[in-house]
Amino acid sequence: MTNQIFNGKVALITGASRGIGKAIALMFADAGADVAFTYLSSKESAEALAKGIQAKGRKSAVFQSNASDFSQANELVQNVVQEFGSVDVLVNNAGITKDGLLLRMSEQDWDAVIDTNLKSVFNFTKAVYRPMMSQQSGKIINIASVVGITGNAGQANYVASKAGVIGFTKSVAKELASRNIQVNAVAPGFVDTDMTGKLNDSQKEAILKLIPMRRTAKPEEIAAVVKFLASSEADYMTGQVLCVDGGMVM
Ligand code: NAP
Repeated sequence: MTNQIFNGKVALITGASRGIGKAIALMFADAGADVAFTYLSSKESAEALAKGIQAKGRKSAVFQSNASDFSQANELVQNVVQEFGSVDVLVNNAGITKDGLLLRMSEQDWDAVIDTNLKSVFNFTKAVYRPMMSQQSGKIINIASVVGITGNAGQANYVASKAGVIGFTKSVAKELASRNIQVNAVAPGFVDTDMTGKLNDSQKEAILKLIPMRRTAKPEEIAAVVKFLASSEADYMTGQVLCVDGGMVM
């Protein structure tokens, strides 16, 4: 039997219809959590995931919502608290790429990536602030990226968003530390999801050369570290950025 370490806990995950978010949702449900999650456009897979969570005997709620919309985030968190009674864990996972060299990067591509990847983290963290303060506990885990630490040519918008997420994580961790709310980030390297599926073979080959372990990660390998940070085992950790990257950044 799976260890039910999240029994009675409620998790909210942004962008969980696919990829890493979906792996986190399933792993949390396996560990006993009720799971609310958002998606933007993948309705079918979002609904299938909700059913998958319920099949594990957990409650689930699925919200079609644009994570970059401040008022939607606020309303959604209020609904989760009303329906589930609390929000114990927030995972800010929703993210996109719109890669290109700066010379060719449009203002729209800049804004879309910053709004989806960074503003969303502000939106949802601010929205859970009050419920977590009143219950005097909470875990917030932000999905960053190793490129937010190292930089990456052709991804100025994405890297700026992820470096922003890291700075935000550390600042809010300091603000909330005395309130028993821990805020940490996970920085994945190269993970097998639709996001990286867009890269061509020569780009993938070049990336593999940068990974000491010479392989990419499965979404579940990222989810396992998120689960650790969301658990009481990590109660004395806050403001940290854990790289899960096969040794890329060391
Ligand atoms: P993915 O497979 O492309 O899935 C992205 C998820 O985000 C989808 O569920 C998508 O919903 C959702 N989403 C996108 N825009 C949204 C919005 N505006 N509002 C709400 N949800 C939105 O990506 P992934 O690889 O799992 O990435 C998950 C996170 O990990 C991202 O923050 C990404 O930057 C980060 N990351 C990924 C890698 C990697 O190698 N894959 C590496 C480092 C960091 P729809 O399906 O409805 O569009």
